[in-house]
Amino acid sequence: MGEPVFAGVVSQITPSDRLVSALLELSAAHGGVRDLSPVLTELACAVTGADGAAVELVDGPDVLYIAATGLLAGTEGLQVARDGSLSGVVIATAVTQVCADTANDTRVDHAACERLGIGSMAIVPIRHENHTIAVLKLAGAEAGAVGEAHVRLAEPLVQAASARLAQAAAAETAAAQLELLNDVAAAGKDVLLAEDPAQRLVEAVSRIVRAPHVFVLMPDGPDMLRVSHAVGADLVGTQVARDETSPSGTAFVLGRPQIVADFTKSPKLSPTEVERAIAAGITDARAVAYIPLETPDGPAGVLSVVMHEPITTSNAELLGLLRLLAAEAGIAITRDDLRRRLADQARTDPLTGLANRRVWNERMDAERERVRRGDSTFAVALLDLDFFKRYNDTFGHPAGDQLLRAVSVAWASALRPTDLLARLGGEEFGVLLPDIDLRAADTIMKRLGGVVPHEQTVSIGVTLYIGDEDPDVTMQRADQALYAAKSGGRDQVVAR
Ligand code: GH3
Ligand code: MG
Ligand code: MG
Repeated sequence: MGEPVFAGVVSQITPSDRLVSALLELSAAHGGVRDLSPVLTELACAVTGADGAAVELVDGPDVLYIAATGLLAGTEGLQVARDGSLSGVVIATAVTQVCADTANDTRVDHAACERLGIGSMAIVPIRHENHTIAVLKLAGAEAGAVGEAHVRLAEPLVQAASARLAQAAAAETAAAQLELLNDVAAAGKDVLLAEDPAQRLVEAVSRIVRAPHVFVLMPDGPDMLRVSHAVGADLVGTQVARDETSPSGTAFVLGRPQIVADFTKSPKLSPTEVERAIAAGITDARAVAYIPLETPDGPAGVLSVVMHEPITTSNAELLGLLRLLAAEAGIAITRDDLRRRLADQARTDPLTGLANRRVWNERMDAERERVRRGDSTFAVALLDLDFFKRYNDTFGHPAGDQLLRAVSVAWASALRPTDLLARLGGEEFGVLLPDIDLRAADTIMKRLGGVVPHEQTVSIGVTLYIGDEDPDVTMQRADQALYAAKSGGRDQVVAR
């Protein structure tokens, strides 16, 4: 009783206990060699009982004191040549060196030792990935104060620090890779949703790869590719043959990436665009990757990435990611094409290319609005080819199709741009004429009747939109006029 429990425990703390707790502390420390070094120097002094400790980082031909404590505290930030120093020997050999008496050792800087009051020292290499990246220096005030025993205590600490460094480096690489993947994934989504996917692609690639010049080339006619989007040098409009005479053409034709790994010594490909680009002011091109914008139906274009550095195995992985991104762009571009085509299809008659009934109805509504606002009225005409069934039967259905196309062209070119010509059914057409009276409409319709190709004829009923009537009523009246034209002997215009 009475005896504090702690007293006994404290008196039993041994150097190895201190080492264990130091190792625990080290294993919990974060960051790279610069973050670990102050922890290491403090722990080294505490564990070994040395009078000072420092971490010297290999920095080219020099060492840089990045952390120092105790006797060595004044050296922090100091840069010293490796050559001729004891640290240099440790770095070169990766073998720990002990200097029991600095005054009698030719390998040390006597003046510095005297100034700092160092009588003995030991230097332990800190290894990372088979290199000595730094050393831990222990200093004692007296000769013999630091020796083999201190080294034996310090070495596990250094090993723990090295392991920690390796972990930190691996984590850093993993984090960088994860960030890159996230970046590419986010850019992929961006590209997919973008208004102009190719533009978003060149911007994203330039940012992610830090490529100074990035281009997208798209097909331009059957034989050429043309730069459609650019970051860096403005090469928009530059053309390249769409064949295997250029790397872009090759990437497009084969649907496989082409790499000029080092432009300064690549005999493999003739990088015509790069040569052109260099003439245009790209003087910093070193390597180029040409990546097809793949789609299930072949490439939609080619992404060309001009880099400052040669392409090596380390950035080749990145190019793999770019390929994914390029494929996203390819899909986005074809999707946009398809969407545009579908939108067009929904509004045009596929046989003649004329507006369809949907456009006709929209236009009727729009014209009614105009009339309501006090503008003059519009005319509606229905045109139905005469004996078209007989024409089909005589010349064949394809010839009938051909007549429908020919009459569409003939009529469209006889009308004003503000008039609407639509195909409303099989061989039935509608013409909407804004700002017109019935007499003028009748005249125009007679003109249309006169330009039907292949000596065929048409019957036409034409009428005006009246007041604010329902458009169906107007259409019925036009239809009655058409019927009257048919029953009146065909090949005529009836206006009512
Ligand atoms: P009418 O003078 O009374 O108008 O006689 P018609 O033969 O022109 O009229 P009908 O309505 O009896 O026949 C219309 C024909 O138009 C029947 C159909 O086969 C043909 N037709 C409809 N759409 C097309 C098409 O897209 N292409 C072709 N070639 N023929 C079509
Ligand atoms: Mg008909
Ligand atoms: Mg007919």
